[in-house]
Amino acid sequence: MSLTNEQIAELLAGLSDEHEGNKQKAARRASRKAYGWPREAAALVEAGESLKLLPAVGPWVARQIQDWLEDPPEVPAPPALRSDFMGMASARKTLTDEPSFRDELRGDLQMHTTYSDGRVSVKEMVIEAIALGHDYIAVTDHTKGLKIAGGMTEEVLAEQLREIDALNREMETGGSDFRVIKAVEMNISPDGSGDMEADALDALDLVLGSFHSKLRIKEDQTDRYLGNLRNPHVHIVGHPRCRIYNFRLGLWADWPRVFEEALQLDKAVEINSFPDRQDLNVELLKLVAEAGCRVSIGTDAHNPTEMHFIEIGCAAAVRAGIARERIVNFMPYDEVLEWTSSLKANV
Ligand SMILES: [Zn+2]
Repeated sequence: MSLTNEQIAELLAGLSDEHEGNKQKAARRASRKAYGWPREAAALVEAGESLKLLPAVGPWVARQIQDWLEDPPEVPAPPALRSDFMGMASARKTLTDEPSFRDELRGDLQMHTTYSDGRVSVKEMVIEAIALGHDYIAVTDHTKGLKIAGGMTEEVLAEQLREIDALNREMETGGSDFRVIKAVEMNISPDGSGDMEADALDALDLVLGSFHSKLRIKEDQTDRYLGNLRNPHVHIVGHPRCRIYNFRLGLWADWPRVFEEALQLDKAVEINSFPDRQDLNVELLKLVAEAGCRVSIGTDAHNPTEMHFIEIGCAAAVRAGIARERIVNFMPYDEVLEWTSSLKANV
């Protein structure tokens, strides 16, 4: 018997509870990072490679994992706060069985740059996206209401759009078909309203609407989701549950009702591929598949490396049986813009 990275993550979370200080932190961090490890730890050991190749694995954590792999302990069932997350290595396995899914996916629809809380420029994200085989990316920096993430004012957004226009022109002239979709991740207040002037939003190709406040409320939040979907400027509901691995459970709602509303309005709900987030998860995505509304896959990358997490979102869609026709990322660039333009007509 060998252990999966998901099981190792749970053991690491338990280990973190047994310690204090640096060891507690190291185990907790490794537990979180294990979901993004590109290979199974067990496979690395079997191949005689060092576990320290994996992110957040130092000598002490490596020794713990080594011991567990040699003599696997019982793995407790994870609490809700750590349940239903998929490891990157396991996602990759799902996609090897269905290679055309990843090959035909055309782009990534959520990421951040130095215009808000991302690490690199738009151009550097483009370079990585091209290396990943994408045809386009949506650059979705935060808007002004989210000060903690350096949200953009209308003026800063206008500056970013000029930069993107120039970049798109440069690529067109150079014979590249790659395009950057002009977008934002707009901060949506609990009543469904956004934080940007309508004129500024009109200049965009795509708007994600996300909640970033009052995320620990336990009561049903259906109305809040309906408000987000009914916001005429919003096309995609970003990271719908707002859950975070081992940190926050996220919101809940009458999901079939929410997905039905998305279908009626021809809007999309996001599969957030970031390992810590993964909302919507497979269970909820099965309800999405049943409802038949549009789905968008985004990595929420804040640096180029995190764009590789797209595979987690793809695997979640495959496991839930979402039809490709319903996934925005399978549309060519022009069709994505046609879809959002058709929604803009209702503004
Ligand atoms: Zn967000």
